[in-house]
Amino acid sequence: MTNSAVINENMSFRLPQPIMLWMEPSASCNLDCPGCPTAAGRGGGVMHLEDFIHVIDQTPWLRFLNLWHRGEPLVAPDFPDMVAEASRRGIWTQTYTNGLLLSKNNLAERRRKHR
Ligand code: SF4
Repeated sequence: MTNSAVINENMSFRLPQPIMLWMEPSASCNLDCPGCPTAAGRGGGVMHLEDFIHVIDQTPWLRFLNLWHRGEPLVAPDFPDMVAEASRRGIWTQTYTNGLLLSKNNLAERRRKHR
């Protein structure tokens, strides 16, 4: 019997649930930067609020949520609602954006909507 077999036979512990999750609100982008796989056609759809809620309903232990991957998250129309829903559940969120869809009017509108 190898050492790894002994270890596998004695593994009776349960791994803890992950408290951090990565979700991609948008697989497309509003820019077309050279060399970017998203700009080169990887781009796809956006996540909708119902799908977002479906996922976080199944992860009640979640504490941190990263809302980006390769697309531009602010392209997703439901992005502000996702952040608001996560916040309502006590989940910290962070994102990464090219910032072009941010404007004072846009932010003011989103703030008003979520008060
Ligand atoms: S995802 Fe980033 S690098 Fe790619 S096209 Fe958009 S802004 Fe440019």
